[in-house]
Amino acid sequence: MRKKIVAGNWKMHKNAAQTEELLNELITKIPAQTTAQVIVAPTFVNLQAAVAKVKNTTIGVAAQNVHQAEGGAFTGEISAEMLTSIGVNTVILGHSERRAIFHETDALIANKVDTALKHDLTVIFCFGEELKDRQSENHFNIVENQLRDGLFHIAKESWSKVVLAYEPVWAIGTGETASPEQAQEMHEFIREVVRKAFGADIADEVSILYGGSVKPDNAKEIFSKPDVDGGLIGGAALKAEDFLAIVTAI
Ligand code: PEP
Repeated sequence: MRKKIVAGNWKMHKNAAQTEELLNELITKIPAQTTAQVIVAPTFVNLQAAVAKVKNTTIGVAAQNVHQAEGGAFTGEISAEMLTSIGVNTVILGHSERRAIFHETDALIANKVDTALKHDLTVIFCFGEELKDRQSENHFNIVENQLRDGLFHIAKESWSKVVLAYEPVWAIGTGETASPEQAQEMHEFIREVVRKAFGADIADEVSILYGGSVKPDNAKEIFSKPDVDGGLIGGAALKAEDFLAIVTAI
């Protein structure tokens, strides 16, 4: 059975006090019967406090990025070993904001994937086409290439540490969501691409999350699709009420 996952990417939001407040609300209000694995990704400076806060709960903590090098003279950067040393076991890589604003290429993301896996971090691997790609009907090619160039070099055994997050760029933070049918069509395609390259066992086991303006009022329909195994949530992860409504929509 594939794991259902709802992950909240808090981006550059929430200071220390706000992080604690939101986590308190999530911890106390997550219904006991929740079937999804819930993950939150606060900023680097709040990771250690978040890890301490969620101890003995079912909530996981992810970093939003990691540097590809083991360490060294890289002012302002964070290594994988630093993350694991404070108990972080998951990292989001390849987010469209990292790709677009910080010019992360598929090759760089592939290096980060290697470093993360070497340190036994679970990778939430983000990818997705831009609006121009969908308009020119090139979206399947773009998605396949991002997977091949950023991820498909990994060993078969590493797939147990990988979660895929399909995030069409035109739907991120825009309020525009892929329709449940568009999400299903792409997720089915992605699973097929994984199947051809790595076999049915891996394709059937890997969780594929959808990300892009998932809200309490559209989550249920999107999550009802057979190849959608949960969501990566941005804006709606910042309010406990909204995030919990999405978590319980699984
Ligand atoms: C994201 O940034 O990963 C995301 C999906 O954002 P939003 O939910 O705000 O579109």
